[in-house]
Amino acid sequence: MHILVTNDDGVQYPGLLALAKAMRLLGKVTVLAPDRNWSASGHVKTMERPLRVKETCLADGTSALCSDGAPSDCVALALLGLTDKVDLVVSGINPNANIGHDVTYSGTVTAAMEAVIAGVPGIAFSLDSHENNLPPDFEPAIPYAQHIAMQVLEKGLPKGVLLSVNIPALPAPEIKGYLITRQGQRVYRDALVERKDPRNRPYYWIGGEAPTGIIEQDTDFGALNQGYVSISPLQMDMTACQALDDLKNWNLDRI
Ligand code: MN
Repeated sequence: MHILVTNDDGVQYPGLLALAKAMRLLGKVTVLAPDRNWSASGHVKTMERPLRVKETCLADGTSALCSDGAPSDCVALALLGLTDKVDLVVSGINPNANIGHDVTYSGTVTAAMEAVIAGVPGIAFSLDSHENNLPPDFEPAIPYAQHIAMQVLEKGLPKGVLLSVNIPALPAPEIKGYLITRQGQRVYRDALVERKDPRNRPYYWIGGEAPTGIIEQDTDFGALNQGYVSISPLQMDMTACQALDDLKNWNLDRI
């Protein structure tokens, strides 16, 4: 089995090394990740400039590839033939949860989406740490990432489906197990911050408090709140099927 490991926090981020270590027990691992942080960059396809790929070393001395492209570019490069044929793409481990509406902002999740578009199973792994400055402890997440990836390698995933896995940032004995969940609802608390630059011109920052969420049974946010690993199957087909009939009743005959 050949597993591609990427992330959106940059190739040297400790969460990537934790995930690469977890995957090495399951097969051959290639790391191809961005050379910088692309968190919340969404699903990117770089088309207006060339992409470069360089060899680098992870903190444990193993070799890796990095690119100046986005996470989804890294996945595309590998799956289009830069590396040997890939059987599974894993992305992460992101230091913060990716739940509810986060998934289309997230470079971690959109890397897994890119895999699914190419017909390869994709899994995004995120840790529900609330730490914003220091990297959290990724060690307790490793066996969970390993076990889920093993299940995907054994059983596959339905066509067009990726997994978004969120792991509580708890010591190993306090993680209660797994729950299969649906996307919950994030509550964003974004606020516009306006400041002045040294030349007295205004600039803007999307600031505010960290997002929270609505605690509901069977959701990603609900599972994390109870100390469970959340496994959400997501689909690339975002059609709102329940809206199709409503829209068919519109009067669209005349211009
Ligand atoms: Mn990130």
